[in-house]
Amino acid sequence: MGVYDDRRVKIVATLGPASTERETLRAMMVAGMDICRINTAHGSPDERARLIEDVRAVAAEVGKMVPILLDLRGLKIRTGPLAGEKVPVARGTTMEIVNTPEPTTASRIGIDFPSLFEVIQPGSRILISDGLIELLVDSVREGVAIGKVGRGGLLLGRQGVTLPGAPIKGGSLTETDRVDLEFGVEHGVDFIGLSFVTDATDLKLARQVASWHGSNTPGLIAKIERPQALDNVASIAATADGLMVARGDLGVQMPAEKVPRAQKEIIRVANEMAVPVITATQMLESMITQPVATRAETSDVANAVWDGTDAVMLSAESAVGAYPVEAVATMGRIIREAEAEGPVRTPASSMPIPYLEEPSAVLADSIARAARELTEQGNIQYLVVFTLSGASVRRVAKYRPVPHIIGVAADEDVARRLNLIWGVRSTVVPLEDDPDHLFRIAGRLIIEQGLAPAGEYALIVGSLPMTRFSGRTNMLHVRPLGT
Ligand code: PGA
Ligand code: MN
Repeated sequence: MGVYDDRRVKIVATLGPASTERETLRAMMVAGMDICRINTAHGSPDERARLIEDVRAVAAEVGKMVPILLDLRGLKIRTGPLAGEKVPVARGTTMEIVNTPEPTTASRIGIDFPSLFEVIQPGSRILISDGLIELLVDSVREGVAIGKVGRGGLLLGRQGVTLPGAPIKGGSLTETDRVDLEFGVEHGVDFIGLSFVTDATDLKLARQVASWHGSNTPGLIAKIERPQALDNVASIAATADGLMVARGDLGVQMPAEKVPRAQKEIIRVANEMAVPVITATQMLESMITQPVATRAETSDVANAVWDGTDAVMLSAESAVGAYPVEAVATMGRIIREAEAEGPVRTPASSMPIPYLEEPSAVLADSIARAARELTEQGNIQYLVVFTLSGASVRRVAKYRPVPHIIGVAADEDVARRLNLIWGVRSTVVPLEDDPDHLFRIAGRLIIEQGLAPAGEYALIVGSLPMTRFSGRTNMLHVRPLGT
């Protein structure tokens, strides 16, 4: 199907020094990159602006709708710089810990987090460098805490610090994030990734701040990387436009061995609530330096597909790795094979989306489920879903139907965002109230763009009147495409 292959699960690739050349971007799109992620933790605003421009230009050349996800770094606590050389710290060493970015020595470590002493107590653990080094807090006094090294290692400067279980609030939209969010809205990115969210209020705040900077606000992807977010995953999903299983930080905020089960739970909730979900971090980690994935990584990607994820993500593999294009292609092959074997878990139940109580929404959900059944019974290969906001498309995708889902939106920004969703490709058609004319125009465009061949029967899902309501699916109609 043209530049789109027939995978249902999407590939998000993080861009970085390894993947910013236009040639590389083009090769990655052709190899299967569906969504570009730009991480604000690296690079300058100028570099990001240029990258956004390049992605848009290359996507237009390739003829693919590629949404951009701008990922805000959130409150990433760091240690101070090094006073001198790298410091080896051994297990059992006593260390002084201060709450300023004071240069780190062999006996005293600075942590750039003024409220440190409010959230740690005797018995707390402080993890440095993604958990490589562990400090166990013995006492907290005025201006200094005393701890022992539990797990030692080589201490570098400006390392990430994790405080497992610490009741940190409001770290999901820092001052820097606000600036980056404004930048994202102004540059028309499609999604914003919010790091370290705790509950739905973090999303409401971000949405409000985004609305100050433009009317076409990006979709919000809530990164589930704190245990508190895991506890609140349903209310977060109800408020977000997507979730991310952020396994990197989640695996230091809670024991790493709890992450596999958390992944399944986050994906299950996202699926039930018809919210797209991205499974992220270390998926093909060894491909940073090698052109082939390990068996364990291959299995990890396939299992995320079978868990029901909408998308899988590449981080360092595509941002700084030696094989960005190969990593995308490898993911594509694993996904296609996993999908060919069929789902392991049954798709979302017939339960209506729990937070929706309005009868019209319950009905819309039932119609989406019926669409799946009808296409199966009628052996129909294409589902064409008309949407104003994207909600109808998400609902149809929730039931993981066998046919390809083609989302038709009136607006290019809405259409582009649909490409994060499981099984969905999209196009733009100005909506009008004469359904017969609208279906004919849309059908022709779908054929023209190579999203489906001519003459195929399609089940059309929409809401009549077409231009009036959002999220009120109330119509099913069968006709050959283009007629
Ligand atoms: P990050 O988020 O790469 O921005 O830290 C993903 C994760 O924590 O897994
Ligand atoms: Mn993270």
